[in-house]
Amino acid sequence: DPTVETKAFQAEVSELLNLMVHSVYSETDIFLRELISNASDACDKLRYEAISNPALIGDGEAPKIRITPDKSANTLTIADSGIGMDRQELIDNLGTIARSGTKSFVSRLKDAKDGLGLIGQFGVGFYSAFMVAERIVVTSRRAGGEEAWTWSSAGGAGFEIASAELNDARTPGRGTSIELHLKKDAAKYLEAYEIERIVRAYSDNIQFPIELVDDKGEAKQINSASALWQRPKSELTQDDYKEAYKSIAGAFDEPAMTLHYRAEGRYSYAVLLFAPSTKPFDLFDPERKARVKLYVRRVFITDDADLLPAYLRFMRGVIDSEDLPLNLSREMLQNNPQLAQIRKAVTGRIIGELEMLADKQPENFEIIWDAFGPVIKEGIYEDFERREKLLALSRFTTTAGEKRTLRQYVADLKPNQTEIYFLAGDSIERLKGNPKLESATARGIEVLLLTDPVDAFWTSAPLDFEGKPLKSLSQGDVDFSLIPLLDDSKRNESKSATDEADIIAAIKLNLGDRISDVRASQRLTTSASCLVAGSHGPDRELERLLARQNR
Ligand code: ADP
Ligand code: MG
Repeated sequence: DPTVETKAFQAEVSELLNLMVHSVYSETDIFLRELISNASDACDKLRYEAISNPALIGDGEAPKIRITPDKSANTLTIADSGIGMDRQELIDNLGTIARSGTKSFVSRLKDAKDGLGLIGQFGVGFYSAFMVAERIVVTSRRAGGEEAWTWSSAGGAGFEIASAELNDARTPGRGTSIELHLKKDAAKYLEAYEIERIVRAYSDNIQFPIELVDDKGEAKQINSASALWQRPKSELTQDDYKEAYKSIAGAFDEPAMTLHYRAEGRYSYAVLLFAPSTKPFDLFDPERKARVKLYVRRVFITDDADLLPAYLRFMRGVIDSEDLPLNLSREMLQNNPQLAQIRKAVTGRIIGELEMLADKQPENFEIIWDAFGPVIKEGIYEDFERREKLLALSRFTTTAGEKRTLRQYVADLKPNQTEIYFLAGDSIERLKGNPKLESATARGIEVLLLTDPVDAFWTSAPLDFEGKPLKSLSQGDVDFSLIPLLDDSKRNESKSATDEADIIAAIKLNLGDRISDVRASQRLTTSASCLVAGSHGPDRELERLLARQNR
């Protein structure tokens, strides 16, 4: 048939499909959530595009999602009357992996022993349907488009694309219909109660009606389709929030922090935000994008509006404004003073909530810190205004213990100690053996041991906490002379000044240009010497951390 074209999948897609098709992963339910989430995105996009082009919803019918099981044909069809895809979009969207997070996920999957567990934890979008289907037929018609196209694949090396009959019952008037030819062991997904159970668990918060068609052809709505963030806190349970997190953020873990409030005043908006308990794969993407969803009066506008600073990009959820115009253009999103105001206020609330959590539920704060601490620390050098707060939130491994705060550090200062000391390096183990710690140890001085690549950034500018400057032990002069030794007998028996000068001269002669200076130091107690950077030059340890970051 000359109208059918065969195309190859991008290599990453083939790898992913191979994993899906041969999946023995037991929690296959998630495929439905992924398809419903795509259908919902498509309805969102239609509603948004229709703001400037109402003709797109020509029939006036509000977008919705419809699930039709067909036991005699052994198919499950998920159809939406959303934006749809034209031929090129079908090829691009269902033949490649666009999200870099998914790409790095695929490369992790290959190495991981528990790769299949990762599928459940992170979801892999459309392609997850190949866990339950041996063949998938997608028929789509772009809103406003004159043609419909069919994409089909059995999950092998490629897919076929062909023109769809407009008068075929399967061809939607607008939107996308996804027909799954189920594998033998996936027949349970044809049962109404199974479908209802999964929709309730994962997709109840989807904004659009999800209808289930029974064997008599009658449709009934099976989700509550409420904008949960608009409801009063008092009506909602912990479980409601957990479900909302899963369906809004497309997440599988539990939220470690939930923040739900309504701001009234100059601007009114509802906020429902969550801190996840596990890291997403794209956490360290160079884009560093926050993905909080912006709604205007319950209409989804974009998840690309930079509603939070990059160092809070791990937060998930929704901000729904009452006052913004619906037809927000890209430029308006970038320069809107109201959005800037919302961003500032919400950022402050999140920090406040983190502070409270650290205080009242330290175990939950630790979950967040363990997963996102390195990201939050980016704020120390990016958010000047909140630097002190972010420093206070930070937890450090120090020579005195783990998860120490700077407040604790300052409370435990030694007599005459006026500075906060740190040493940066690539592992705690190696730092603990570093001779540069010796003199501090001999005086019982606590030293922060910094091993995150991001530590190189925020420590590179002069910084203080509660009036105490932070100082690197591997850079410049460190003067411990006023701080008493714990055990006085360990003090270096003072050598005569001429001895010292002789030794320094001999070392300088030997090392010549390779060093800029040689000095006697109180930094060491048992080691004979160590290398340090000049006060104004770059810090060697930090340089190494930076090199690791850029690798
Ligand atoms: P993601 O949803 O994260 O982008 P998916 O693998 O789930 O990744 O989907 C890939 C892309 O395919 C989507 O971004 C979208 O452009 C397109 N797509 C999938 N399902 C639909 C649908 N029902 N209607 C319109 N476009 C869709
Ligand atoms: Mg998706």
